Amino acid sequence: MVVRERLAELNIAGVVSATGLIAHGRGEAFDYLLGERTTSDALLAEKVAVAYMLEAKNPVISVNGNVAALCPEEIISLAETIPARIEVNLFHRVEGRVEKVVAHLEAAGAKKVLGRNLDARLEGISSDRALCTSEGIFSADVVLVPLEDGDRAEALARAGKIVLAIDLNPISRTARAATVTIVDELTRALPNMIRSVADLREDVPERRRLISSFDNMTNLKRMVQAICSHLQTD
Ligand code: ATP
Repeated sequence: MVVRERLAELNIAGVVSATGLIAHGRGEAFDYLLGERTTSDALLAEKVAVAYMLEAKNPVISVNGNVAALCPEEIISLAETIPARIEVNLFHRVEGRVEKVVAHLEAAGAKKVLGRNLDARLEGISSDRALCTSEGIFSADVVLVPLEDGDRAEALARAGKIVLAIDLNPISRTARAATVTIVDELTRALPNMIRSVADLREDVPERRRLISSFDNMTNLKRMVQAICSHLQTD
């Protein structure tokens, strides 16, 4: 309820788009089917994602209006602790909205947020969603995309990047295009990820073991099974 009200207020303020509200509703529906909990498989995916971020040369966290609205502090904390860059990347680029999202993050304490000056394009996307920054997403080797759309997740994967998605829908195009899909609610996933950084920062062998033993298609199948078993329990 509190979260919905915050999103509605930030929709009026121009940070969250109308379609962002609809996307949030889709997420809520999947979370309900999953039992509104972090499964052990989601927790493992969160650790694997952190392992990739710690192994990366230029990790970037892509932030849209919903992400900025739902958990600005956690995004900033994850970005600082890895460390990773934050780039604002919007699905709906209405005039002035990037500035509002960047300002919202800066008000929460973010420094040097990328996204105001888009000087590069991802191949294979015709719309202005291809735009990104050369310093950030364009040159990133690992990109965390909480709540990304399928087109861009696929374009990032085609560009050879490690794509780490947070998406409650285990059958979305984003979920299937990603290297690691965390099927968990964003505000539960990020604190778990921040906790994992401390465990994995000095443990390079464990990071590499997590990465080499992870298979995303198996992960997604298990998440679909988790939904099915939750629906079958009374
Ligand atoms: P795709 O294009 O990937 O096939 P889509 O058309 O649903 O899927 P979007 O609308 O961009 O693409 O995706 C938003 C996704 O984010 C949805 O799959 C939704 O379930 C998920 N989602 C929304 N809110 C949250 C949240 N708070 N935590 C995690 N996932 C969420």
